[in-house]
Amino acid sequence: MIDKIISEDMDRIKKTIKKDVFSDKKVLITGGAGFIGSWLCDVLIKLGSQVIALDDLSTGRTKNVDHLSKNKAFKFIKSDVCAFENKEKVDLILHMAGHASPDEYQTHPIETLQTSASGTFAMAELARKNDAVLLFASTSEVYGDAEIVPTPETYWGRVNPIGPRSCYDEGKRFAEALLMAYSKQYGLDVRVPRIFNSYGPRLREDGLYGRAMSRFILQALTNQSITVYGDGKQTRSFCYITDTVTALMLLTANPKAKSEVVNIGNTQEVTILDLATKVKEITKSKSQIEFYPMPKDDPKRRCPNIGKLETLVGWKPDVSFEEGLKKTVTWFSK
Ligand code: UDP
Repeated sequence: MIDKIISEDMDRIKKTIKKDVFSDKKVLITGGAGFIGSWLCDVLIKLGSQVIALDDLSTGRTKNVDHLSKNKAFKFIKSDVCAFENKEKVDLILHMAGHASPDEYQTHPIETLQTSASGTFAMAELARKNDAVLLFASTSEVYGDAEIVPTPETYWGRVNPIGPRSCYDEGKRFAEALLMAYSKQYGLDVRVPRIFNSYGPRLREDGLYGRAMSRFILQALTNQSITVYGDGKQTRSFCYITDTVTALMLLTANPKAKSEVVNIGNTQEVTILDLATKVKEITKSKSQIEFYPMPKDDPKRRCPNIGKLETLVGWKPDVSFEEGLKKTVTWFSK
């Protein structure tokens, strides 16, 4: 059974997407059991697509897609994206597989690079053979510790190529370069959203996989200390999952997005200390906020300029930080 909050959110997404674009399409979703991947599986099934979810379960969880297992239009394949050889014809590939959590990817830097490099190469070849559209989940991390904030797509980035985050940042930058080469050399229809911090139900909260948002919620709900790194003045802009998924679907549906690199995110910039304080307030938690050393190369500010996406597909985030946070807390407290 799908959870009530997620089900209502799905209906909200469905309303903004034209059904006929996706009905009867065969869609491969890599990282299909992950946070954003599993939301895409749900939405596409609702829109009448046939979905193949591919996941090696290194960071994804089967519980995100278990409720779809009896649906004839849904198939789950446990495989590493780098080694996957698909025999079926696909119309669309949503390449979401990757290691997104800083603590986790820094523990598995080689796998992280491989997923972005070999995995994206495998998906580009598959898309070429199938004449399929390929959407690749890139990231705000390609900008590194940006000097221009809000950051537009035209900014080239400030990344430490040998620092602890480089396995993720440079992997994604390589994948972007590879897809631009496929677009140029073979005319492949690639679409490259750079996804800024997204959150909501199904964001992992445990161990190395936890992100600031999900960790703080778990810590607050269990009255443990909230672990803020540095002085907490670094910023992020948090985009609720329905907004992220809607933007991804609109980009996938719109031919004008061919070969485009586009930021997706919310423009409300908040400090990590504000996040901790707000989480504490909403959960009415007794947790103390504790300060820990700042990790190396942690970006100081992050906020997208989303003018390009607005112009291209007429999208703007719809869910405020307050509303999204309350929903997420409700979901986690269940
Ligand atoms: N952070 C924190 N405490 C934590 C986890 C993260 O203060 O327990 C900080 C982290 O240093 C960063 C921000 O919160 O400045 C966002 O971290 P997240 O793990 O969500 O990923 P990032 O946006 O850095 O990719």
